[in-house]
Amino acid sequence: MMRNIELQRIPIIFFGIFIAAGVCLPLPDFLIIQLNYIGLYAITCLGLVLLTGVAGLTSFGQAAFVGIGAYASGWLTLNADLSPWITLFLGFIITGASALLVAMITLRMSGHYLPLATIAWGLSLYYLLGNLDALGKYDGLLGIPGLSLAGYPIGQGRGFFVLTWVLLALSCLGMINLLDSRVGRAMRSIKSGTQMAEAMGIDTFKIKVIIFVSAAGLASLSGWLFAHFQRSINPSPVVLKMGIEYLFMTVIGGAGHVWGAIAGATVTKLLEDQLQVLLPIWIGSSGSYEIIVFGIILVLILQFLPNGLWSIAAQQLPRQQRKNNWGQSPILPGMPNRKPISKGELLLDVRNIRKEFGGLVAVNNLSFEISAGEIVGLIGPNGAGKSTTFNLISGLLHCTSGDVHFCHQSTRKMRSRQIACMGISRTFQHVKMVPEMTVLENVALGAHSRAQKGMLSALCRLDRHEEKQLFKEAERQLIRVGLGDQIHQLAGNLAMGPQRLMEVARALCGDPLLLLLDEPAAGLRHQEKQALANLLKQLQAEGITLLLVEHDMDLVMKVCDRLVVMEFGNLLMQGTPAQVQQSPEVRAAYLGTEH
Ligand code: ADP
Ligand code: MG
Repeated sequence: MMRNIELQRIPIIFFGIFIAAGVCLPLPDFLIIQLNYIGLYAITCLGLVLLTGVAGLTSFGQAAFVGIGAYASGWLTLNADLSPWITLFLGFIITGASALLVAMITLRMSGHYLPLATIAWGLSLYYLLGNLDALGKYDGLLGIPGLSLAGYPIGQGRGFFVLTWVLLALSCLGMINLLDSRVGRAMRSIKSGTQMAEAMGIDTFKIKVIIFVSAAGLASLSGWLFAHFQRSINPSPVVLKMGIEYLFMTVIGGAGHVWGAIAGATVTKLLEDQLQVLLPIWIGSSGSYEIIVFGIILVLILQFLPNGLWSIAAQQLPRQQRKNNWGQSPILPGMPNRKPISKGELLLDVRNIRKEFGGLVAVNNLSFEISAGEIVGLIGPNGAGKSTTFNLISGLLHCTSGDVHFCHQSTRKMRSRQIACMGISRTFQHVKMVPEMTVLENVALGAHSRAQKGMLSALCRLDRHEEKQLFKEAERQLIRVGLGDQIHQLAGNLAMGPQRLMEVARALCGDPLLLLLDEPAAGLRHQEKQALANLLKQLQAEGITLLLVEHDMDLVMKVCDRLVVMEFGNLLMQGTPAQVQQSPEVRAAYLGTEH
């Protein structure tokens, strides 16, 4: 079962208890040291949760950012005589800048190229650090000062434990806050592709860059702690093996959960230490056998627990339902609305658009117009090119030739998110959603471009007022489409019909002038279809213009003012439903095959 894990704040309480226990209980020193390492590793893994678990970007290069943070602070404290508390921030700046550079180069790559690029980046940094005289070559930097606070040395024991785990707790809390925010939902929406997010007006490249730089920031924090804990730094923690190991810990713990970072770091560190001692005794000779055992464990976990160890614990924790704190605020202002277009004015002008996929002409010089206030049906047999036409209008695909004008403006050079922001919202023939988010959160994505609170407000939870507005709007649209009683369900648990209605609500959240619906009635029951027909008429009465692809002829004939019929990419005819119904060509091409 899927869970909305990010809202599980309960384990935060355990941090306090855990830190207090670490300080008060007479734990042996080696255990405290081990916990310090676990804390350090977990901070880096938390970045990987964001990068890999949330956004689906695989990176083997996190160790390189740990290294930059560590070297930056080490070198600056040694050579510029700066306080570590200052070099922490300088480290952030240096790591952030290098992460930005790497992100700009690599994040446009897709598929396997990104992980490969991060490997190349990790490797090159290792050799660079190992060859720079100023950084001590492969010996690294020695004698880095330890940390102190208000004159008191923090040391390497309990003081350091408190610092590391408090920083880890704050990072976890920040991450939970972030994931439960406008930016966080955008981050969670890009894991299985960027088309839907872009159609919601989200700049997915920018989101990926923010994620990459944030993950590098966490790695830099871990590197800073590492340098001042060990009092030395050399290229070995930067080596590719560590980059793999961080990813490995995160996957074992559960890359999809904030708490998976800690679970993974703990299990890996403890197991590694035990195996290093025990394996040579069992086997009778020394060597890095633990690597082999780890390989086997990883394969087993991927096979039997693909969501990592934390997923077991997550199933036991109660699911926290979002409190409706927007309902009781009568003074909560609605979101700003678009200026309506007067009825009858030309809204969409499709001029001679053509789309070729290799040798296949999916849309062949198609032209039609839509005036404000109309409901137009785009019909035709399967494969006629209807969805491709939608994709051309909404900017998901670019025309091979021809042009689309919306509100008298050419959209030829625009990206789909810019077109969305101009007022064209859409649904998809194959539902695109974030199954692990609730229906309400999915629908709130639709209003992304109408709000503006960013990452910093989210981290500090200064975005709550805007969040209430977003959820209020999302709830309003969900009630409108008849899903008012399912808003806290996980979207992935909805049946097909309601999923389509959820997409309609999400599109409505964008406050569209033109709404493109691709087969909204597929999978709906008879009564639901009637409710949909009423909804479409109601939307029309409210001033929204609709373009509808639908196979259900009863619905099309009932709600559409005008029909555009396509066949093999060509325009077959346009006319009122009655005219189309009487046309022998249409009967032969389309209705004939349907009935
Ligand atoms: P409809 O929505 O009317 O059923 P589509 O627009 O999905 O039709 O498809 C029109 C034609 O274009 C089909 O022959 C389909 O196979 C082809 N097509 C659609 N998308 C692609 C694509 N991305 N690459 C190659 N061919 C495509
Ligand atoms: Mg289609």
